[in-house]
Amino acid sequence: MRIQAVKGMYDLLPPQSRRLGEVERISHELLATYGYCEVHTPLLEYTGLFARSIGEETDIVEKEMYTFEDRDGRSVTLRPEGTASAVRAYIEHGLSASEAVTRWYYLGPMFRHERAQRGRYRQFHQLGVEALGVSEPGIDAELCALLWELCGRLGAPGLELHLNTLGCAECRPVFRAALLEYLAPHEASLCEDCRRRFRHNPLRVLDCKVEGCRRIADGAPTSLALACAACRGHWDGLMLDLEALRVPSQHDVRLVRGLDYYTRTTFELQSTAPGLGVQNTIAGGGRYDGLVAELGGPPTPAVGFAMGLERLLLALGDERPPLRPVAQVGCVSRGEAARRALLPLARDLRELGISVDVDHRGSSVKSQMKRADKLGCALVLILGEDELARQVVTLREMAGSAAGEAGATRQSEVPLAEAVARIRALLAGG
Ligand code: ATP
Ligand code: MG
Repeated sequence: MRIQAVKGMYDLLPPQSRRLGEVERISHELLATYGYCEVHTPLLEYTGLFARSIGEETDIVEKEMYTFEDRDGRSVTLRPEGTASAVRAYIEHGLSASEAVTRWYYLGPMFRHERAQRGRYRQFHQLGVEALGVSEPGIDAELCALLWELCGRLGAPGLELHLNTLGCAECRPVFRAALLEYLAPHEASLCEDCRRRFRHNPLRVLDCKVEGCRRIADGAPTSLALACAACRGHWDGLMLDLEALRVPSQHDVRLVRGLDYYTRTTFELQSTAPGLGVQNTIAGGGRYDGLVAELGGPPTPAVGFAMGLERLLLALGDERPPLRPVAQVGCVSRGEAARRALLPLARDLRELGISVDVDHRGSSVKSQMKRADKLGCALVLILGEDELARQVVTLREMAGSAAGEAGATRQSEVPLAEAVARIRALLAGG
């Protein structure tokens, strides 16, 4: 029997892999303009890190982690998310002593053993962005704006930024108690998951997707109404900054997010793009002011979000972001001497940053041309033995490409020694 990919995991091949690459490139560029630096942490961490930070009674820790014993007999887990690792690294390397504000991001695979479906995979990619050291709401707004701008720049349609507050150590218990009191008479009508955990974590009932639970949650008390003065002030500051940044948002009283470490601000970026279906959350995040201390570091306010790149690509559909052609220039030759004569040209073009495909197969000129067309080449160099003898090369501008005239191909003979300069000028639009 042939071996297949692990269930829920998938191979990322062109052109999808190139789409992901484009999204990554644009993310790197935008994050740099906000002063965020990339960090790389291991894919594997000791299990206790996730159990302690994400929370024992969360979906992730209860049933989604890839956990196993390594050969030393220690329990390790493939990271299901990135914040825990980022905070561990922040503490381990003593960042709070060396800088007052830390702006980090990471891009890479996460692992969760969930029911595989559209927009939900067992290995998927996240862009995570974390800002540590700032308690003021300005940084919450900065992250929301960054996320909004990134998805906007990529062209994601139907974006909605949902925000809520979960309160702090002072007012969360008040909200929790009010919620418990409200939910208790409805206990028997809750779904099995909610019944099991609502006494310990009544907030989770608010974001349960089961219809019956949703109806019950509709009448529940809201966290903002019960927020303490400091949390209320934080929320108001965030609203004013978002207004200044012209980022539209909506208050979503049911947004609680599934991770235990959130305090105060939580947010989600959703999209109404048809490609997403029910998995319509592209990114989720919030403040986690208690997590650094919880994991043994100095008390440090922090806020962050994670964006699912597969979800983002589903929201974008097949067309965006536009892909550059695999090769801008194709090298087509008749005969081995001609093929070899094109090699230094190809190298010189690549040195200029121009992508080049050389057809090494020695097949017919027609089939080589077909391949160049398929790759999306704007220009094709065609060299035969007789042209080589005359030290010229045929340069064809492909129909429909940016460099070619609309609808028609044009070709001309160019001295071999001038070919690179000529191609450069044509690709620059000259
Ligand atoms: P969901 O409610 O969809 O399960 P979540 O609350 O578990 O999401 P987070 O842990 O906050 O999500 O992760 C942030 C983002 O990562 C999500 O908004 C989503 O875009 C993406 N994501 C999470 N789990 C998966 C998965 N199994 N497959 C693909 N993307 C995922
Ligand atoms: Mg989940």
